Amino acid sequence: MRLDEITHTARRNYLCACCGMTVHAYSKYVRAQLPGGGLVAKKPMHVACYTRRAASNTNMEKAHERNI
Ligand SMILES: [Zn+2]
Repeated sequence: MRLDEITHTARRNYLCACCGMTVHAYSKYVRAQLPGGGLVAKKPMHVACYTRRAASNTNMEKAHERNI
């Protein structure tokens, strides 16, 4: 999924699903499904938080591949 396809401009303040801090109105944010946890609802989160999470997921997959 491309980042710019899930990046939106906030119309009001949201709480980031990753760090719990405020996503301020009129700033860019990502609305995406959280991996794991069984929640299918899409959650708002900071763009930085989303990219950090995506990067760590990739690193975990690479670590897993090394273990095989
Ligand atoms: Zn955040």
